[in-house]
Amino acid sequence: MGQKITVEAGVLKVPDNPIIPFIEGDGTGPDIWRATRSVVEFAVRKAYGQSRRIEWKEILAGEKAFKTTGEWLPQATLDAVRDHLVAIKGPLATPVGGGFRSLNVTMRQALDLYACIRPIRWFEGVPSPVRHPEKVNVVVFRENTEDTYAGLEWSAGSPEALRLREFLACELGCRVPEDAGLGIKPISRTATRRIMRKALRHAVDSAQRVITVVHKGNIMKFTEGSFCQWCYELAQDEFGEVVVTEAELASSGLTLPGGKILLNDRIADNMFQQVLTRTDEYRVLVMPNLNGDYFSDALAAQVGGLGMAPGANIGDHVALFEATHGTAPKYAGLDKVNPGSLILSAVMMLEYMVWKEAAEEIVQAVAATIKQKKVTYDLARMMEGADEVSTSGFAEAIVANME
Ligand code: NAP
Repeated sequence: MGQKITVEAGVLKVPDNPIIPFIEGDGTGPDIWRATRSVVEFAVRKAYGQSRRIEWKEILAGEKAFKTTGEWLPQATLDAVRDHLVAIKGPLATPVGGGFRSLNVTMRQALDLYACIRPIRWFEGVPSPVRHPEKVNVVVFRENTEDTYAGLEWSAGSPEALRLREFLACELGCRVPEDAGLGIKPISRTATRRIMRKALRHAVDSAQRVITVVHKGNIMKFTEGSFCQWCYELAQDEFGEVVVTEAELASSGLTLPGGKILLNDRIADNMFQQVLTRTDEYRVLVMPNLNGDYFSDALAAQVGGLGMAPGANIGDHVALFEATHGTAPKYAGLDKVNPGSLILSAVMMLEYMVWKEAAEEIVQAVAATIKQKKVTYDLARMMEGADEVSTSGFAEAIVANME
């Protein structure tokens, strides 16, 4: 019988037999989940013998939930994640345009998982479109609840859009075309400060030397511009002892003192160049929701694509770890796709639980497997002399490297 993870005095307390809810996911979700589970179970056994063990608890979302309960995202699922504090999920399908709202976005908002955290690093041997993928070693902190993802949008010609258009014209003197769909992009000081706090806390805890705010504040002054300004404000209010801004450094003419963190900001379009041309100058990136979506995938492309990119959505304590790619439906049930993203998300989960030995076992074994060129089709097609393996074959190779 497992026990629940709890929080005591603001600190996560993980028992030796924690109950961890999982959502298998749609499409290729079951394939990558099976692979991930076998790798995690082996790593925990290897690291701790019989003394620690995860008690998995299946919870439902997506197609499996709909078939079983008639609901895409049952309240019981949200309650279970909230109640158990740490959970892991495969990808869930969302129709484009009409249909229901993204279940992923709904879960993040319902559980107030305001920080989307995506570490992006290269594993030696993974084929990459850039010449120096080893220079990529960043963690993206993406605000998860606001911006154009807030769900405040209305289709062209709908009564809501027409009413909003009329309000804009009559009350604010703003003209928008009658046939325009309309959306609202809220960015608040409160949400900005809490994502910046999490990013800075990470930078301090992992002894990083630089943190960068990425925004488009030159154009969207009162949303992204304010985001940038509020990030600086929070840094000064709560991390003033350790943070030095780029402007302060330039005016002093000095180099960054030891133990300090450089805080700078970059406009998003420039930053897309910077992560390619001056990659190793960046370590922790903090940004609003939409920028974060673009940057995490663009950076993942530099280190081998979405198949290797892990992610977590974390609130004050509740944490939901997930593959960052989608359901890749054309490969569903074929035992073909790369489970790396979900496996590395599980590594993040083990680190969050402070089960660092098990996490490290997996990282070492993934690195060794890739070096042996035992990879799934997505990497094999870009790698000379690759030994292409299936989803389950990749997991077996990782386990063999832990043995
Ligand atoms: P996708 O499922 O990520 O797939 C796009 C392409 O990326 C695949 O065709 C495949 O490329 C590659 N890919 C994705 N996962 C891979 C893996 N594990 N291993 C190797 N290659 C992988 O994106 P999509 O087709 O745009 O979205 C499909 C559905 O997923 C949609 O309903 C979308 O809303 C949903 N989605 C969910 C999440 C989530 O749950 N967090 C995130 C994104 C999208 P090749 O065809 O080149 O092999």
